[in-house]
Amino acid sequence: MKRQEDLTLDPENWEEMRQLGHQMVDDMIDYWKSIREQKIWKPIPTDVKEFLDQPLPKKGQDPKEIYDEFKQYIFPYNKGNVHPRFFAWIQGTGTPLGSLADFLASGMNPNTTIGEHAAMYVDRQVINWCKELMGFPMDASGILVSGGSMANITALTVARNSVDGLQIRKNGLRQTEPKLVLYCSTETHSCIDKAAEIIGLGSDSVRKIPVNESFEMSAELLEQQIESDLAAGLSPFAVVGTSGTVNTGAIDPLDELLAICKKYKLWFHIDGAYGALAKLDPRYESRLKAIESADSLAFDLHKWLYVPYEVGCTLIRDAKKHRNAFAITPNYLLQEKRGLSGGLDSINHYGFELSRGFKALKVWMSLKEHGRDKYAQLIAQNNDQALYLAELVNQHAELELTAPVCMSITCFRMIKNGANEEFLQDLNREILLRLQEEGIASPSSTVLHGKYTLRIANVNQRTRMEDMDLLVRKVLRLGREILKLGAEI
Ligand SMILES: *Cc1c(COP(=O)(O)O)cnc(C)c1O
Repeated sequence: MKRQEDLTLDPENWEEMRQLGHQMVDDMIDYWKSIREQKIWKPIPTDVKEFLDQPLPKKGQDPKEIYDEFKQYIFPYNKGNVHPRFFAWIQGTGTPLGSLADFLASGMNPNTTIGEHAAMYVDRQVINWCKELMGFPMDASGILVSGGSMANITALTVARNSVDGLQIRKNGLRQTEPKLVLYCSTETHSCIDKAAEIIGLGSDSVRKIPVNESFEMSAELLEQQIESDLAAGLSPFAVVGTSGTVNTGAIDPLDELLAICKKYKLWFHIDGAYGALAKLDPRYESRLKAIESADSLAFDLHKWLYVPYEVGCTLIRDAKKHRNAFAITPNYLLQEKRGLSGGLDSINHYGFELSRGFKALKVWMSLKEHGRDKYAQLIAQNNDQALYLAELVNQHAELELTAPVCMSITCFRMIKNGANEEFLQDLNREILLRLQEEGIASPSSTVLHGKYTLRIANVNQRTRMEDMDLLVRKVLRLGREILKLGAEI
């Protein structure tokens, strides 16, 4: 056979690739530096959507051309959560060093599951720092996952598999009598419902306990429900408390939930995807103290630690239960005492995913760059900004708060004497859409006690107090404009 030149995907011209890489870094730094001056969002033109809907390329293309296409068709139409006035859903801003760390991580490209290599130790270091941040014992275990949803299902899987005497890994849930029941509140994030469905509990086994006026779970009703389920021959096994609900930032009465879990010997899980990190703000420290005693905790680092997407964390108090829920060793994943397959316990023993990127690096670099104290200040600053916004709202008779402010979420809306709910919904929806379409700010919306409302969730490291002033000014301007045009809504 005639010997051919060996193929590779590496560049033919390394110097050109180096230049292109430098250009990308320059462009990205210019972007971050001037983000405040840019529109937060713009609609995507039809030609861009068409460009992004083409058949698979058969032949390759010059990287420089591809980058030009990126700059023309993709870069300008970003979601906007890097912008100082992004307040929709709960989405973090990211940081420059965090992004550069992601580049380094993908350049090294270690599959961070198994083996003796530095990424495994960085991963372990980050998990240990997460335990420290949350006041978890050092002999607890943990795993970095893609985000809060994954962190919650990981924890609930451990909770389910740890139910005494059932051997669920072997038997599955079909054989299980009596039926397992999970408790959370009506304000709990939908990922808990999904998790319950996926781990085989089914949505009928999830009890949604009512909340009080401040959207916090009623401990009294929780206990009543547990009692009545026990009386009906069911098996309560876990309670999910939320530290910072997605709607309003409410905190369930975690101390009381913990006491109930102790009394009935239930697994106490906390969904702190958004708000566990408020623990660093002294104002919330005591209300979140119970996190330290939970059986498991899920929290996101891409939200309130401002680390670029994606990364979340599950912590499990009892490392043995954690490992017992997932560990499995096929022949092709044996660990040796020495060599490349030696080293730390495989991370695959602590979760579902086998292949894992080196997401720990961006967290490691970020925590080193800023230190715990700076994060505590930033989180407190977001909480201050939410309170300041509420003050501004209270100064205007045309605006009203629609929920008590907790953590960094402020919910408010424009009102008008004599207007019914439908009218107010149309008015506030129109304000919201114009704020976004004019590229001013990106709040999102929700419905609280039947009231359609603007929702400002702030886990943004670029927001300043002046952004709150501007937001209120613009809401009032747009609202007044729409009201004068009346007919349009
Ligand atoms: C964001 C959030 C989740 C989901 O986390 P993802 O990182 O988006 O998967 C779950 N629970 C709460 C309270 C959240 O705020």
